[in-house]
Amino acid sequence: MALTLGPVAFVGLLGLSVGANPAALVGEGPGGTGPGTSRSGGSSAQSAGREGILAVVLPQGPPVWQRLVSVESSIAFLQDRLAQQETEIQQFALAAAAMPNSPAPAAAPEPAASDHLAQLIDSRDSTNQLYRTALRVEYSIYLDTARDQTEQQALLAAVEQEAASIRDAVDYDLNVAGTQVGQEAAIAAAQQKLQELTSLSATQLQQIKAGQPFMLPLAGTLTQPFGATDFGLEPPLVYHGVFYPHFHTGLDLAAPLDAPVRAAADGVVLLATSSVDSQGHYVGYGNYVLIAHPDGFATLYGHLDRIGVSAGQLVHQGDAIGLEGSTGWSTGPHVHFEIRHKGELLDPAPYLAPGQR
Ligand SMILES: [Zn+2]
Repeated sequence: MALTLGPVAFVGLLGLSVGANPAALVGEGPGGTGPGTSRSGGSSAQSAGREGILAVVLPQGPPVWQRLVSVESSIAFLQDRLAQQETEIQQFALAAAAMPNSPAPAAAPEPAASDHLAQLIDSRDSTNQLYRTALRVEYSIYLDTARDQTEQQALLAAVEQEAASIRDAVDYDLNVAGTQVGQEAAIAAAQQKLQELTSLSATQLQQIKAGQPFMLPLAGTLTQPFGATDFGLEPPLVYHGVFYPHFHTGLDLAAPLDAPVRAAADGVVLLATSSVDSQGHYVGYGNYVLIAHPDGFATLYGHLDRIGVSAGQLVHQGDAIGLEGSTGWSTGPHVHFEIRHKGELLDPAPYLAPGQR
């Protein structure tokens, strides 16, 4: 879903001054190196001020809102801390570089300096670990909430009273998580149904050849590869047990609007559908097609302008299955192409025909 568009990335309430105790998350961090343990000079006044505010502002409302406020507060605190530690590292490195390098003085200062730098870097890395943990907790709160209608209502009711910026951020993040939950549920359900597709005769099923290697579905420019990315508009994902704040789940191929999108291999159309939010707006993959292939493989084609197939239909490699578009989280015409195997997302590149990788 590259070129994906939304108000902002999955940033939630980052940086917004909602209260709660930043220490709430420290217990989840590695080895108890909480953000408060390695304070070096210059920051204590600022921190004290912040803690003073945090002690006064306690979250009110339903538990889901309290959890969210608490984790957002941790995130904001850790972000500040990270910025502070980066500055300290830079300043120290600059100061070290500015020192006259002529007199190799007593042996003592140099190891001390490098020790100090190593400590600064260690502290920064510890904070970064905590920060990523906090982001993962935030994401799981949104996923859990998106899966539970009652929790969702409670959260939306709680943010009713908050500033518009907070409401927008929560709405946005809930929408991202809800879209992911909905799409994955639809894909999983469709794959379950594969065995039940009765419209295909045994002969037809035999016609589905392996069809590998897969071919690219669109003659276009690769605009984004598969994998973890810094691209802020990609949503978060837990991939092979690791949390990524931004992860691109397929390949993006761009070409002029309405270019034909073709089946990457022989298969059966499992889903030919649209991802829409409660207001009927396209979200996520927009119009998309999911095709099942032999041996547990499936391919997905997102952001289509038009869908040209229907569920249960047999398709052959190279058949047009729709027209390339920009529906859902997309800023311009492209196809978002995924290859999955038994539900797991794969990096498509190794499965493509040589010359297409
Ligand atoms: Zn994409």
